[in-house]
Amino acid sequence: MSNSIFESLESEVRSYSRAFPKTFSKAVGTEIWSVDGRRYLDFLAGCGSLNYGHNPPELKEPLIEYITSDSITQGLDMQTSAKERLLQVLADNVFRPRNLDYVVQFTGPTGTNAVEAAMKLARRVTGRTNIVCFTNGYHGVSIGALAATGNQYNRGAAGLPLVGTTFMPYDGYVSGDFNSLEYFSQLVGDKSSGLDYPAAVLVETVQGEGGLNAASMEWLKQLQKICNEKEILLIVDDIQAGCGRTGTFFSFEPAGIYPDMVTLSKSFSGYGLPLSAVLLKRSVDKWKPAEHNGTFRGNNHAFVTAAAAIECFWSSDIFSAEVEAASWRVDTWLARMVTKFEGDVVKLKGRGMMRGLQCADPAKAARITEMAFDHGVIIERSGPEDEVIKLLMPITTSAEQIDEGLDILEYCCQQVFSSNNDEVIKVVAEERVLQHVM
Ligand SMILES: *Cc1c(COP(=O)(O)O)cnc(C)c1O
Repeated sequence: MSNSIFESLESEVRSYSRAFPKTFSKAVGTEIWSVDGRRYLDFLAGCGSLNYGHNPPELKEPLIEYITSDSITQGLDMQTSAKERLLQVLADNVFRPRNLDYVVQFTGPTGTNAVEAAMKLARRVTGRTNIVCFTNGYHGVSIGALAATGNQYNRGAAGLPLVGTTFMPYDGYVSGDFNSLEYFSQLVGDKSSGLDYPAAVLVETVQGEGGLNAASMEWLKQLQKICNEKEILLIVDDIQAGCGRTGTFFSFEPAGIYPDMVTLSKSFSGYGLPLSAVLLKRSVDKWKPAEHNGTFRGNNHAFVTAAAAIECFWSSDIFSAEVEAASWRVDTWLARMVTKFEGDVVKLKGRGMMRGLQCADPAKAARITEMAFDHGVIIERSGPEDEVIKLLMPITTSAEQIDEGLDILEYCCQQVFSSNNDEVIKVVAEERVLQHVM
């Protein structure tokens, strides 16, 4: 392990491979196998980029067919039959049923590219610089988006001053009755508040990386109202919470709001293929041709799978109801664990199929996820101190697999919370591992 090619040849910047130090070679649905033949339940799911699981057959077949028929693969923003189909499918199954009049800007392939484009356009349209973002927000690590990301560790690597943003307290950030939006509204309305009048507000409805803080629907409605009244653009970053993660295609649907821009990435292709877009209200689409350019703004393979995903999962309300049922199941497990481990587990976090357990001791949260991995469940953590055990399994995960994974998680919590001795925890972990090897 210590002299693996990954450790000797890959940059120190590598991240997830450190927490899950196995080499993986095969995956189907929620299951993933390492080269040594071990089966894992993947409750990380490409950090939310595999909402429909690994290699979903409904998406794989059209992709294989597309490739074998010598269809277009390059990524320049030419007109292709694959892009034509995705735009049509989006119009018919996503925009029209929801009464959304959006145009689609395809950006570079990663989430941060979409955020960068949205921030740039907001500034260009309004002629203002400042973008209001929120405590614990995460929007990516390129310089513009990083300025809107709260995490000090990520910000510290910028190498440049991060400018053009102001952080406001997110819903629930300040304890007690404090209304963070009244505060925001007052600052915007006060010519002496020191807040540069914002071009836009950039917000996640559930803060995925920031610790699974979920904004209430009331809060989101009020935010929309303030933005409308003050003529500030509202950008919802739905990169992690969108594409069904919270039960509806867009995470903001239950709030009934209509953002000026929406960023999509992670599960947009549905297949783990890189694909990002900004949805723009027609009135804000003030770009001039090629003003914001890029070579890879059209991953045709991702267009094929994205269109198939939308047709397969979002052409009716059936799938939404299934995700709801799965969320209810996860919720029931976690609520029980919050009671059972009272004191050690402080809070149930998140919404829909992005839920987590906030632990009182971040070190214990770390031991729990480490132990879960030894027992065959891939689970990551998030939050300011990585204190939240974060469940991000595919939203298609079966009831049996939810039960299997959460049973293991509960066992690991039990072991770690009932022992203060690292050695004991390690031995117990090894014993369980032996039982689980197939
Ligand atoms: C992951 C994420 C991003 C950044 O996407 P990358 O593809 O990692 O650049 C931006 N916003 C949110 C909400 C995310 O979860």
